Amino acid sequence: MTVHIIGAGLAGLSAAVALAARDTRVEVHEAAGFAGGRCRSYFEPALNRIVDNGNHLVLSGNRAVQDFVRVIGSQKHFLAPARAEFSFADLKTGERWRIHPNDGGTPWWIFSKSRRVPGTRAGDYLSLLPLLQPKDVPLGPQKNGALWNRLMHPFLLAAMNTAPELSSRKLIAAVMRETLAAGGRAYKPRIAHPTLAAAFIDPALAFLKGKGVEVRFGERLHRIVLEGERIVALEFPQGLQTIEPSDVVILAVPPSVASSLLPNCPTPDDFRSIVSAHFGIVPPKASPPMLGVIGGTVEWIFCFPDRVSITVSNADAIVDKDRAELAEIFWRETSAILKLPSELPPWQIVKEKRATFAATPEQEKKRPPATTPYRNLYLAGDWTDTGLPATIEGALRSGRRAAELVSARRSV
Ligand SMILES: Cc1cc2nc3c(=O)[nH]c(=O)nc-3n(C[C@H](O)[C@H](O)[C@H](O)COP(=O)(O)OP(=O)(O)OC[C@H]3O[C@@H](n4cnc5c(N)ncnc54)[C@H](O)[C@@H]3O)c2cc1C
Repeated sequence: MTVHIIGAGLAGLSAAVALAARDTRVEVHEAAGFAGGRCRSYFEPALNRIVDNGNHLVLSGNRAVQDFVRVIGSQKHFLAPARAEFSFADLKTGERWRIHPNDGGTPWWIFSKSRRVPGTRAGDYLSLLPLLQPKDVPLGPQKNGALWNRLMHPFLLAAMNTAPELSSRKLIAAVMRETLAAGGRAYKPRIAHPTLAAAFIDPALAFLKGKGVEVRFGERLHRIVLEGERIVALEFPQGLQTIEPSDVVILAVPPSVASSLLPNCPTPDDFRSIVSAHFGIVPPKASPPMLGVIGGTVEWIFCFPDRVSITVSNADAIVDKDRAELAEIFWRETSAILKLPSELPPWQIVKEKRATFAATPEQEKKRPPATTPYRNLYLAGDWTDTGLPATIEGALRSGRRAAELVSARRSV
């Protein structure tokens, strides 16, 4: 049996790694000249260095990330603080603070004024309990107050890439249960270091190479040839590839590509953008690796040894603005917070218009399972029905799930 995996983003790589680890024959076909998809690094001439398309944060409670990183052996490529600590700055008031949740599931940190969000009382945190309920109705606009504005809104916005007030309660509850509600040990930040490629992509490709798996770049799947309930061939620009009766295909492409290849496949069709900026400047030594910004356009600042990068989620309102204008706005805020010169350093803006599907209840209903009506076809991708928003954790779980389904049919 050969498993043909279409797409070398994290979902495809996750499926390939899981199958190769079980010595299944795998071929990966990737349209681009590189792997990683939306989680990629590239050489940026404006800064003369390698940067990520966007900053990616994962948390210690992301179990699939932990497993993947262990199998490909890339633990050393993560900044992994021993404690869950998050620094924030309020641009309007000039306040700075750091929250220090305790490791265990009983959140005693909320009783400590120096550890909790400034302007909140311990009792305020009880208002988070409803977020654990996967209700059908969105949260609505009723949320406000320091706890919401200074912690929950930024956290959920980053996780959902959709206004939390409009996001699926099911997805919010899933994220809450696996991270904030599980205690600080489940939400210690994990930042790819120095790049996403070093942490996720290059070691995965090296693992696959070691297992004899061929990753073929520049192979864009144009058409799936179906016969009854089976895929019988895949059409690439290089020619038609026959799919033998024992072969299996895992389609791990973005939702718009999946729906064009499989017209009857339901897929999310509403997306949210993310805008990132990279500045070629060394941050001050004492800067935290990651800092949440309240009251600005910039939402998160990431400090790397050789650069400063920022992220704006759910960025549809600004994504079409002129890049130079965005760079000015972002740098004005970032330099004020990091106390760096106001003169604009070398910069680049990265706009990902379809960064993730919108995590709304309507889109959630359009996510298909990994199984399809076709006997030898499975789906993977952060947009399939993973139970999580579009995240690295979701993408990796989806690939692993598809691999499990393939392995299960093998053992029958
Ligand atoms: C700017 C940005 C910031 C983000 N921040 C975070 C974060 O902080 N934390 C987090 O957990 N997640 C974050 N995410 C989400 C995360 O990047 C995605 O969930 C994940 O990378 C999706 O992986 P995937 O494999 O499902 O899809 P993709 O990465 O889209 O992979 C699909 C692959 O299929 C290939 N392909 C497409 N068409 C074809 C074809 N016809 N034939 C062959 N190959 C094809 C593509 O080239 C691509 O390599 C962020 C995303 C973006 C864009």
